[in-house]
Order: sequence, then structure tokens, then C-alpha cells
Amino acid sequence: MPSIVVIGSVNLDIVATAPCLPAAGETVTDAMLARYPGGKGANQALAARRLGADVALIGRVGKDAEADAALALLREGNVDLSGVVAVDDAATGVALITVAASGENQIVVAPGANRRLASETLQIPAGDALIGEVLAPLDAVARAVVEFEGFTCVNLASAKEVDDAVLRGADLIVVNESEAAWYGERLALREGLVATTFGASGAALVQGGEEVARVSSLRVEAVDTTGAGDAFTAALTLALVEGQSLAEALRFACAAGAAATQRSGAQPSLPTRDEVLRILRDTETR
Ligand code: ADP
Repeated sequence: MPSIVVIGSVNLDIVATAPCLPAAGETVTDAMLARYPGGKGANQALAARRLGADVALIGRVGKDAEADAALALLREGNVDLSGVVAVDDAATGVALITVAASGENQIVVAPGANRRLASETLQIPAGDALIGEVLAPLDAVARAVVEFEGFTCVNLASAKEVDDAVLRGADLIVVNESEAAWYGERLALREGLVATTFGASGAALVQGGEEVARVSSLRVEAVDTTGAGDAFTAALTLALVEGQSLAEALRFACAAGAAATQRSGAQPSLPTRDEVLRILRDTETR
């Protein structure tokens, strides 16, 4: 079983489903409240675990009840949480999400303890692959990527200025279409692999500026696309360290992304390996 280390953010998502979004200064009532474990790092760790990897997560939470709620599914899934440290004087990261009946949303993130992930105190365990995401502090992710001995993947969501050391050093970079446009040639022409996702239109894998694999459609009934990018990132990394070919690995990742759209929420929708294999078997792919 490949071992994957994930460094990234851990949040509790507090979601109010409301008839409409409030304008500035306005109050909207009649909302329904739900709390879900979230944070990109946590989502990617659980995604890799459900797909069959041994996973260790590196992150920071507060010493509060929100931490227990945020880590509940990771604990249940047997993700190694010894690298998730509960720090003093900072609250567990929270994302306040309002979803309107129209499907539009508004999100405010209070990173709290996530900000305390400091490069100086990082202890990165050994493993076959490391996945980093950039909603966690960049210097910590950059150090982990540069020092890790093994395959490294960085998910540049959302787009922000990153060190050339990360852009050059990561074996695989995953972006969506708008992030790819934001980074432009710096990303498109790099030596290593770049995977760009196009939502329902699949994904492409480019190496040294040349397209090496593409999946242009994998039709499923999508219910909620939250978590699709995280499932895709974890699946592509795992497939590549398992030794699947570039084309096979991209198909596996797209099937994982598609599977994650079939249930609501981020972590509850992350698919198992069997679910991904079923989609690959039953769905026509182009
Ligand atoms: P992000 O959420 O990071 O913007 P995308 O929406 O591009 O990421 O989704 C990541 C991957 O998940 C896509 O490349 C695709 O394989 C899969 N996916 C996303 N939405 C759908 C959909 N509606 N139908 C089928 N597959 C999807």
C-alpha cells in the first residue's frame, strides 16, 4: 500500500443553506445550519485514504471542540493524525459558507490555527508521495516539497504567488482552468507534470509543454462538485506512485473527481477505490 503524506489546511465548514444570499448590511433568516469537516489538506488526506493509501496528515488545529468535529472522519478513516498538532491561543480553522437556493455561495474563511503551521517546526515523515496545498502557509508547504524524498504534488488552489522552488521542484502540479490561466507560461512550460482540470469536461496532463494525456468527458449525474478537485489530486498522485501509466492515472483521477460529484459535501462525497473502479468500468470515457 503506498504511503502518502499530506500537508495542508484543516477546517470545520459551517454551512447555512438560505433562501438567498444577503447583500452587504442585509440579514437573511430561515436558513438551515450544518457542520462538515473540511479544509483542502484534510479533504485530500481522506481522499487518498479512501482510495487505498496509508496516509499521514500534517496540519494545525486549536484546542477546542471544533477540532474534534473537523478531524472526526479522518479519525474514523484511520488517517495518521500524529502530525496534526493542537496549538494554544488559536482556534481551529473555520469556513463560514452560505449557500442560496439558487446554488450560489459566499464563503468567509478564518484560518486560525492553520496559520501556525511553521516551516521551522515541521516534522515531515517519510513516504512514497507528498501532497501539499497552498491554503496552508506557503513557506511550510515549500519546505516540505523541497525536502521530501519521494514524489511530490502541489495543488495550486487557489492561485497565488508561489516560489519558483515549488513550481520547479514539484513532480506534479494540479490546477483548475482558471488557476492555469493565472499562472500562464510559468506553469505551462515547466519540465515536470502539470494536470489541469476542466470540471465536467475532464482534465489534461502536460509534461515539458507537451500534452501527454487527456480525458475530455466522463459522464455522471453530478449533484455537488465540492471535493471533486481534492479527489482528483489525491487519485492522480496515488495512481502515479502505484506505477499506472500517465493515461491510466489521468483516467483514474477523472473517475475519482466524477465520483465525488455524486454526493453532497466535500468529505462525505470522497469515493472509495471500488466506487472509482465501478465508474471506470460502467462509464464511457473519451
Ligand atoms: P475544482 O473544483 O478544483 O475547480 P474541477 O471542478 O475541475 O476542480 O473538478 C476536478 C475533476 O473532477 C475534473 O477534472 C473532472 O474529472 C471531475 N469533475 C468535476 N465536475 C464534474 C462533472 N460535473 N462531471 C464529471 N466529472 C466532473
